[in-house]
Parts: sequence; structure tokens; C-alpha cells
Amino acid sequence: MNEAATDIAIDKIENSRISQFDPSNIQFGRLYSDHMLVAYYDNGAWGQPKIMPYDNLSLSPATTFMHYGQAIFEGIKAYKDPQGNPGIFRPHDNWKRMNRSAERMAMPAIPEELFMDGLKTLIDLDRNWIPNGQDTSLYIRPFMLAIDEFIGVKPAEQFMFIIITSPAGPYYSKPVSIYVQDEYVRAFPGGIGYTKAAGNYGMSMYPTKKIKEMGYDQILWTDGIEHKYVQEIGTMNVFFVVGDKVITPDINHDTILEGVTRDSVIKLLKEKGVTVEERLITIQELKEAHEAGTLKEAFGTGTAASIAPIYAFTYNDQKMTLPPMETCEITAWVKKELSDIRYGRKEDTHNWVVRL
Ligand SMILES: *Cc1c(COP(=O)(O)O)cnc(C)c1O
Repeated sequence: MNEAATDIAIDKIENSRISQFDPSNIQFGRLYSDHMLVAYYDNGAWGQPKIMPYDNLSLSPATTFMHYGQAIFEGIKAYKDPQGNPGIFRPHDNWKRMNRSAERMAMPAIPEELFMDGLKTLIDLDRNWIPNGQDTSLYIRPFMLAIDEFIGVKPAEQFMFIIITSPAGPYYSKPVSIYVQDEYVRAFPGGIGYTKAAGNYGMSMYPTKKIKEMGYDQILWTDGIEHKYVQEIGTMNVFFVVGDKVITPDINHDTILEGVTRDSVIKLLKEKGVTVEERLITIQELKEAHEAGTLKEAFGTGTAASIAPIYAFTYNDQKMTLPPMETCEITAWVKKELSDIRYGRKEDTHNWVVRL
């Protein structure tokens, strides 16, 4: 590490819990690796980050975030290459996005060295927890909480930045069925749709529960004003292949989470020579394309799911079924391309993978 590297206190676990980990049966988010990173913010500055054994937190019941939701998070993955060397996919972009979320939620920015050095040191220490089976990875969850012991409503002054990690297997095993939501709303201009704030998920639980009871997997949100433009899917950005073009909602309305996977997919497709349009997309346009037979493929993108093929959209009791997976060439190509870069099977010409 260079001179500017953050001084991190390390308290190693006495007995690793790695024997509890069964790489042949990975259940997402059920088991956490040996260590976590914790840093406190107080009096206008971040203190020394510490890496310590993963453990429960002890917080006052009056802690701000528990009442008013001043809480943000990120999601990143580390992968092993064929030689078993770990690489983290585009964490610098997550650092930048976390600070955009922090600003909107009146939380302090995280210095680049704290985020990047903390992350790299933690993953290095727990590198045995990165599985090496097909489509497996180590899911990394950085998050920040407002921790003033105060139940008055005001922006907090004390914060906690934490990173925990958890081994992950393949996310969606089959193509997903989507419900186009035009009753409940996720985001609108001026809101927090573009941030990874905890509340964006809290508010989505009820509508998601309802559509799951109806047999759908995920919601495709529409805009909060006219319910006319599509935004994104639960935890993923969305892409459609219409004719020989790929279209995806643009991020200029503060309503859509600017996914790192989304950005990677756009860059890879453009390099391949595919036309990618980032713009407003109406549900009507998709309906017409489906009727005309030009809506050929659709997929969701996100760190957790990577590329999730979509097989149907339901809008107002009308089900639009897409052609079978085997014909979805663009989805298959981009999924493989991205995964080859992440797993070091292909040259990383964009310098996306951060090696330890
Ligand atoms: C995290 C997230 C995504 C995907 O972002 P990635 O950086 O690709 O993981 C998409 N939509 C929402 C709402 C999210 O929270």
C-alpha cells in the first residue's frame, strides 16, 4: 500500500468460522465472513477504521436511524479468477455513488482512502470466504447509519460506516416474471430514487409482497406522476431489446438508481457496435413493440443478480410474454461478456477489476 494508505486497526478473529461455510450450498445473506470494518464519524471527522471479528452491534434504542431512516448502503462483489486471485468489481464507482446518497441524506462523505483501503484490507483478510464455484462470489455490503442518541428530528452528527461480507451463489435461477406497477410509486423528481437509501426498500416491501402473492417475481416501477414511463425493477435497472436497438431509461430525473452493472452493460454493448438509447420509455411503446413483434428481449441488471432475463411483463391484466431464452442473443452475450471480465477469464480492458 502507498503512503496515503489509511491506517487501519486490525483485530483478527481467534478461530475462523469458515468451517460453517458450505460452498456447495450457499444461501445468500445467511452467513457472514469472519471480519467486518467499522469507522465512526464524530465532531466533523472520521476516526480510525477498525477491522474486527463480525459481531452484533450495541446501540441505544434512541439511535436516530432506527426512527428516521437516515441510512444508506452499497452492494459490491468480489470474484476469484481461474488462478484463485480475488478481484473486486468497480468498487470506486460504488464509493462515488455512496457519497451521492450520503449528500442527499445529509450524511458525511466517506473519504476515498477510507472506503477503498478499508474494503481492500477487509477482502484480503477474508479472501478464503470468496467461493470459486460457477457464478459464485463474495457479496460486499458497505453501509452508513446515523447514530446520535437522540429522538428529536434533525440531521444527525454521529455516524457509523460498516462493511460486512457474505458468500453468494447464483441469484435468480430462472427468468423472471414482472408486474408493471401503476398504483404504488417508488420515485419522483426531487425525491430519493437515485440514492441507495434504506427507505427506498422499506417502502417497496408492501407492493412487492402483494405482487408476489399474485405470482410475480418483481415490480417494474413507473414514474410517480403519470404512471406512464418505466423506471426500474425492484433491485435492478432494466433493458429492452426492440428491433436491433437496446433501450433503457435514462438517469436524468433523480428517479433511477445509477447502477454500476447498468453502466457496464451500456459500455460493453456500445463497444460491440450495438445501438443503445438512454431515454424516456413509455409502457405504451413497449406494448406496441410487443404487438408488432419487435420486443425481442428484456433483462434486469444489478450486482446481486448480474443479468436477469425477463420472460414476461404484466400490465393491466395483459401479459406480454417474450420469446424463449434460447433466442435472446443480446442478453446471453452481455451476460457472458460481463461474467468473463468479472471472473478474469477475459482481459479487463476497462480496468474495472481491482486486484488486491
Ligand atoms: C443497487 C440497485 C440497482 C443495481 O445497481 P448495481 O450498481 O448495478 O448493483 C438497481 N436499482 C436499485 C433500486 C438498486 O438499489
